[in-house]
Amino acid sequence: CGIIARIGDGDGVQELLQGLSNLEYRGYDSAGLAVKQRNGSRPTVVKRQGNVSELRDLADGQMLGPIGIGHTRWSTHGPPTDDNAHPHTDESGRVAVVHNGIIDNYGELRERLAADGHEFRSDTDTEVVPHLVEEFLDAGYDAETAFRKTVDELSGSYALAMIVEGDDAVYATREGSPLVLGVADGCYYLASDVPAFLEYTDRVVYLDDGDMLVVTPDGYTLTDATGAVDEPVVETVSWNP
Ligand code: GLU
Repeated sequence: CGIIARIGDGDGVQELLQGLSNLEYRGYDSAGLAVKQRNGSRPTVVKRQGNVSELRDLADGQMLGPIGIGHTRWSTHGPPTDDNAHPHTDESGRVAVVHNGIIDNYGELRERLAADGHEFRSDTDTEVVPHLVEEFLDAGYDAETAFRKTVDELSGSYALAMIVEGDDAVYATREGSPLVLGVADGCYYLASDVPAFLEYTDRVVYLDDGDMLVVTPDGYTLTDATGAVDEPVVETVSWNP
């Protein structure tokens, strides 16, 4: 029920865990993180049913990384279990995805992907997303195009964030579920809600349905539903939690 992402230098794991704690008020049954190093390394995932402090016990000292995504889950498809917790990955572990919302057409996508040989490890609607991205990567598309083509196939409501082996970006989009970008000095955040990252920055870009973001440690590109580049409006929020 909450998403956080952090894209910068140094180690982001503590900020991701703090962001998830800040989202606890939204309610959840499971939590997880995927982080990666720069220079296109493969994501590392920890996730479990339970609360953020239990996730912290798994992640603390075990993982470090400047780029990452995190999730608190409020189950809609599949019970709260470790396997159903996000992030979800493809078979190879190249792609890690967090999702809030419901993918209405996951049944038909899952059938098609399973028929093509993809092995599913969860009961979630979400898991079709990393497998679809993998299909497009295998077909030779770059990560951004693979993400766009995947999102084109989805119907339902979603905020999505993805990291992938091979580059240093977080790819994100929303449709009917909230997602905001936080802009700090040399560091960016994505979250379902501003309080997730408010201790790091009060400069935010609110996203519209259909917006697509590619965020790297060096900057970000915002495109609208048609693919046209949008000039982002950075607002300073005053927020009294
Ligand atoms: N539908 C997804 C699931 O059940 C995401 C739920 C959420 O928004 O936390 O895993």
